Amino acid sequence: MRAMVLEKSGNPLELSDIPVPDPGAGQVVLKVHACGVCRTDLHVVDGELADPKLPLIPGHEIVGTVVSVGEGVTKFKRGDRVGIPWLGYTCGICTYCKLGMENLCDNARFTGYNIDGGYAEYTVAAERYCFSIPEGFSDLEAAPLLCAGLIGYRSFIMTGEARRIGMYGFGAAAHILVQVATFQGRSIYAFTKPGDKNGQKFALGLGAVWAGDSTSTPPEELDAAIIFAPVGSLVPAALRAVRKGGVVVCAGIHMSDIPSFPYHILWGERTLRSVANLTRTDGEEFLKIAPQVPVKNEIQIYPLEKANEALHDLKDGRVQGAAVLKP
Ligand SMILES: [Zn+2]
Ligand SMILES: [Zn+2]
Repeated sequence: MRAMVLEKSGNPLELSDIPVPDPGAGQVVLKVHACGVCRTDLHVVDGELADPKLPLIPGHEIVGTVVSVGEGVTKFKRGDRVGIPWLGYTCGICTYCKLGMENLCDNARFTGYNIDGGYAEYTVAAERYCFSIPEGFSDLEAAPLLCAGLIGYRSFIMTGEARRIGMYGFGAAAHILVQVATFQGRSIYAFTKPGDKNGQKFALGLGAVWAGDSTSTPPEELDAAIIFAPVGSLVPAALRAVRKGGVVVCAGIHMSDIPSFPYHILWGERTLRSVANLTRTDGEEFLKIAPQVPVKNEIQIYPLEKANEALHDLKDGRVQGAAVLKP
């Protein structure tokens, strides 16, 4: 099969011809129809996340159909349409797993990082981490739901009952979550790179009540903010925009250093927290809500062999909505 392979961190992906994987016990092999390109892939390829499996096939927003199943597989059968997310393995016995916080499992393994992912024509995954894909989404439209959607949704849950929510960085995750939030009657304030008028127009078109530069002050105090962009200086900016008792959620897996800031912008019982990974429960919940909204994903499609181009476009802010590879 054709696959885009990372041989060494910091190098571009190489188009390779490798054998189709066989399913082990509890595993399914999918023919990949779509794989979303996530900012985390960029962090993996650029070497900002330490110790990836090498060589590695990136990609953790995978939609495909099951072509073969391993011993003991019961949840899926051949021909089923299945999604594979970032969380690829948890141990089930560590403190976190036992407390229902499998997203923090000490021994977790992640798709497209510790396990080969979906930048390929076929991939293999443990069925207990896979999801059924709701009807009403094409394969290409469904792919971004699996990380931008799921982990974005987990970040969104962490804002509690907030009515006015700021979103810093209006990429794949924010463009999905603004739709969910608006559906629930909440108001979204979208912050983009300074001067990104297209991004601001895009956010308003999807239901944001206000859009502006990340350096500007929103017209009202916010109840909460989610930072999707990997930019540490947004943390003090978001704390300044949030009311007493409000929460600022850092949604990314990697962020540049946070500059020091005066204590008074945190004081007043503001909370600053991060969100890491996903639990399977987050996934089940989000994939029920997405078709009710219904979420409409704006996607830019790239052929598999253009994965490097997709990553560059993402890095340079040329992707509106979500980038998706089509093998
Ligand atoms: Zn565990
Ligand atoms: Zn991701």
